[in-house]
Amino acid sequence: MAYYTPPPPDPTAAPVRINLLSDTQTRPTTGMREAIARAEVGDEQIGDDPTVNLLCERVADLLGKQAAVFMPSGTMCNVAATLVHCRPGDEILAHETAHIIAREGGAHAALGGFQITPLSGADGQFSPATFRAAIHPRSRYQPPQTVVSVEQTANIGGGTIWKKAALDEVVQIAKQNGMATHMDGARLLNACVATDISARDMAAGWDSAWIDFSKGLGAPIGGVMAGSSDFIDEVWRWKQRLGGSMRQAGVCAAACVYALDHHVDRLADDHANARALARGLSQIQGIEVQQPETNLVFFKPDGAGVSGDDMVKALRQRGVLLAMMDGRIRACTHLDVSAGMIEETVGLVREIVRGA
Ligand SMILES: *Cc1c(COP(=O)(O)O)cnc(C)c1O
Repeated sequence: MAYYTPPPPDPTAAPVRINLLSDTQTRPTTGMREAIARAEVGDEQIGDDPTVNLLCERVADLLGKQAAVFMPSGTMCNVAATLVHCRPGDEILAHETAHIIAREGGAHAALGGFQITPLSGADGQFSPATFRAAIHPRSRYQPPQTVVSVEQTANIGGGTIWKKAALDEVVQIAKQNGMATHMDGARLLNACVATDISARDMAAGWDSAWIDFSKGLGAPIGGVMAGSSDFIDEVWRWKQRLGGSMRQAGVCAAACVYALDHHVDRLADDHANARALARGLSQIQGIEVQQPETNLVFFKPDGAGVSGDDMVKALRQRGVLLAMMDGRIRACTHLDVSAGMIEETVGLVREIVRGA
């Protein structure tokens, strides 16, 4: 499976005016930069950075866990989590499109010696029944199944939201079978804003859960992972081993604290823009659009006589950046995308289809 396939560099293309490539493309706002400039800092590695400590307390509380730790990236959160939960030879269960399978450079195998069993299911989610059916009896022949992982929201599934009832059922099955539960919450707050279910409730029963600050929350870097105090102590050991311990990381954490204060409720705007984009695109004959639940819009223009690759290139020519992801075009709304840009994008797609 291919990750983004951004269009090839084209010197004749207009400068990018509308950046729908990813919510990682957000640039720190003026307010965020001011918060960064004012940040009180210390030495994060020895637990002495007040802004990092504040951020970790805020996220532990948000997710309803005992403790939290600041990590340089979401990927490092996932990797450190499985390194704590599993031993070499253990099996992790996750959806077949999961980031931990396809997008982390094989880290879980390379660093931990773990295998990940891909579960199938629509929209990036496996059903509790599929999960239950994948569980085998403990025996000396089969790998110990130690952790189940879900993505909330499911990225390649279309930014879809796991229903709270399904999450609870997965937790229950995992616990009955002695497995740990891990939530890749790169876009957890998108799910919370869209459903009005608190992050604490969404993460209830999950032994480890993290949120990414460098996606829709708009901070330059960082993820924060939460769990029990014992779990977080063990994560710290791996953070140190992986070279993820930092120094005056308060400059980064300040951006994250700012994002918690200013950029959570506004995710609703991104969702409204995603719906508007999907509505506009679906009115163009032949374009197949998955109805968005959050800020990701997946569509296929083939039925309108334009291949996905050609559409991506033609939009790039006109100053709109997005990319193919796993055979479809993904457009991502975020803080630097306005309602006007969405309208303009729909118009450009219509123009490209008309010219085809
Ligand atoms: C982006 C993403 C990650 C990884 O986060 P980084 O901060 O880019 O390392 C993990 N899981 C999902 C679902 C993501 O979208």
